[in-house]
Amino acid sequence: MRVVVVGGGIGGLALGAGLRAGGHEVVVFDRDTDVAATGGYHITLDERALAALDGLVAARTMRRLLASASALRLRERDVFWDYRGRVLGYGPDLSASGSVDVDRITLRTLLAEAVGEDLRLGRAVTGVDTDQDGRPRVGFGDGTSVSADLVVGADGTHSVIAAHLAAGPTSRPAGIIGFSGRTPRAALTAAEQQRLGARSTMGIGPRGAALYVGFLDPVGNAALDAPELSASVTTGPTYIWGAMFPESARTAALRELTGPALRTALLDRFRHHRWAEHTLQVIARADPDSVAAFRFNAASTRAADLAPWAAGRVTALGDAVHATPPTAGMGAGAAIRDAADLRDHLDGVPEALVPEAIGRYEERMRRRGAEVLTAAMKTVRLILATDSPLGAPATAALCPLIAAVTRLRLPARGAGR
Ligand SMILES: Cc1cc2nc3c(=O)[nH]c(=O)nc-3n(C[C@H](O)[C@H](O)[C@H](O)COP(=O)(O)OP(=O)(O)OC[C@H]3O[C@@H](n4cnc5c(N)ncnc54)[C@H](O)[C@@H]3O)c2cc1C
Repeated sequence: MRVVVVGGGIGGLALGAGLRAGGHEVVVFDRDTDVAATGGYHITLDERALAALDGLVAARTMRRLLASASALRLRERDVFWDYRGRVLGYGPDLSASGSVDVDRITLRTLLAEAVGEDLRLGRAVTGVDTDQDGRPRVGFGDGTSVSADLVVGADGTHSVIAAHLAAGPTSRPAGIIGFSGRTPRAALTAAEQQRLGARSTMGIGPRGAALYVGFLDPVGNAALDAPELSASVTTGPTYIWGAMFPESARTAALRELTGPALRTALLDRFRHHRWAEHTLQVIARADPDSVAAFRFNAASTRAADLAPWAAGRVTALGDAVHATPPTAGMGAGAAIRDAADLRDHLDGVPEALVPEAIGRYEERMRRRGAEVLTAAMKTVRLILATDSPLGAPATAALCPLIAAVTRLRLPARGAGR
């Protein structure tokens, strides 16, 4: 069977690698000209995503990925802060976690290597239709086209393929705008290194300002101790942070800025919302070239609303169908699980029965998408609630109370696991 995959991001490359390994004829088209020119942040892959990936790529690729990844089991519990730096609570014990964090660039590069010559870069797809033999056909900006037995839209949030199938966009802005950046741990004062620790933290405050700080150490905390296999772009303990604000004309204007100007403007926004100065050091000392904006798009959290089309020879996966804000760290994992599931549904299926197999795959994908969207939207709604007329004063009043209760209940936990 000949499969055309539109989009060589996380899900499309995972599918391409799996189909190629399974003996299918596959070609993956991406508009990018360089797979490493992708976001500088990290991706969390949970055990389900890793198991799916294990079934799609060769054992050596999996070992290289784990040797390049930071193991959550080696991290301390996550901490939740308020805008003044007061501890509000702790996340679960991670010592038995099988999840890993990996640079997005590393993950995409390893997957692209697994797809090899079947990945075609610099090829932006402009549409999909049906050729004279009734087969699906994708078209490119230069007027050329390619037919296949199956077309899979893995072209992300603003998918051309899924929008064609759904006769409209499959997601909409979630109401939050995000900015990410990287700060080497060594760039922080000793006190701030101690406060942030070897863990991920989430800070919230009134008016929808939030700051996630993820800890990535693929060398010291490697998931697989095999430095000779590592392809990590992060070479020392690093905080990768995400600043979030409700979308407004003022926060949208930040998207026009880059580098040091954007970093300064972000600090100003947090100061305006009365964040304690030490909580902002991680932004103030970030590599200015790493600071970038990203928009949160979200599809519906209801499975019945996802992939609203009849199954056929054109389908889609990942963010193209269930665009997921990064607030649960599950979007890429879901795209990989879609890819594994689709590959399994196509295995050994006679060509004539492909639409039925796609129907079964899409049913499972709808449920998977709804699950990750529900998890991600909980945090989005919480952040937006702190921006409401009641939510803003309530957040300011409740934060010190929750912090006081946390101090009384968990006096010893701040320092360690
Ligand atoms: C800051 C941030 C942090 C995140 N953290 C996590 C995390 O920790 N864990 C997690 O699981 N998820 C995370 N996510 C979400 C995750 O990145 C996405 O859910 C995931 O990448 C979706 O994979 P995908 O393959 O569906 O789409 P993408 O990875 O977005 O890939 C889509 C690809 O399609 C290509 N493309 C688009 N249009 C065309 C076209 N017309 N023609 C050809 N090519 C096209 C694009 O160039 C791109 O390469 C994060 C996202 C952000 C922004």
